Amino acid sequence: MRIAIMGAMEEEVLYLREYFQDRIRKETNGKKEYFLVKYDENIELVITNSGIGKVFSTIVATTLINHFECDMLLFTGVAGGLKKGLKIGDIIIAESLCQHDLDITAFGHKPGYVPGLEIFTKCTKELKILATEVANKNEIKVSKGIIATGDQFIANKEKKDFVIDTFNAEAIEMEGASVAATCNFYSTPFLIIRTISDTADEEANVNFKEFLEKSAKISSDFIIKIIEEKAKKQRILKNL
Ligand code: SAH
Repeated sequence: MRIAIMGAMEEEVLYLREYFQDRIRKETNGKKEYFLVKYDENIELVITNSGIGKVFSTIVATTLINHFECDMLLFTGVAGGLKKGLKIGDIIIAESLCQHDLDITAFGHKPGYVPGLEIFTKCTKELKILATEVANKNEIKVSKGIIATGDQFIANKEKKDFVIDTFNAEAIEMEGASVAATCNFYSTPFLIIRTISDTADEEANVNFKEFLEKSAKISSDFIIKIIEEKAKKQRILKNL
């Protein structure tokens, strides 16, 4: 089976590329490089970073599914924390994702709604269970909740409050919902994991720069443990 591991910025997948560097093979598609890793006898990984925002992440998620024929997609990266309980360095597993900047309310629709999609796209249940199991086993504290996505870096209270009040979101970023919509479109199982890099307030840009690398590594470490567990389960399945 092929598992896609995707981030947005290069910083979000650099640690993974280094971790698997001895068994990486590079392929180019369009303007992007994809890093293929033979993980074990059952699993191959395709690691890449899409670039920032909904457009690039949709292009790359589509390529991972249709060109590289990935059977599932795991997204790893950083996000702004919205709710008080979430601190920089905390991991959040997305229950579901929405597009906070999608607005056809002039036609009487709810914010975030567009025909063809629900307002909230749910991550695949089995992968949420797998990630929770891995967190419990390794005593990693994780939160779960709604992640809101839009083509904006949020760094002010007004926007932050709008997204909390309208979507009850826990965290905010710029790619999750478009990746979710793509995976949903092609019926590809997926999971979005983010680690908090800032709290989407007036200091967000400063905090983001300071914590990007550290938070990206926390998220990557968690992804590596999820892959290990998945590989273990695949081996058991094969030997049945
Ligand atoms: N450093 C970049 C810009 C980063 S944009 C540059 O100068 O080119 C922020 C990235 O981190 C996006 O990929 C987004 O998914 C995530 N992110 C982290 N905190 C965020 C916030 N407060 N609002 C929106 N996206 C955020």
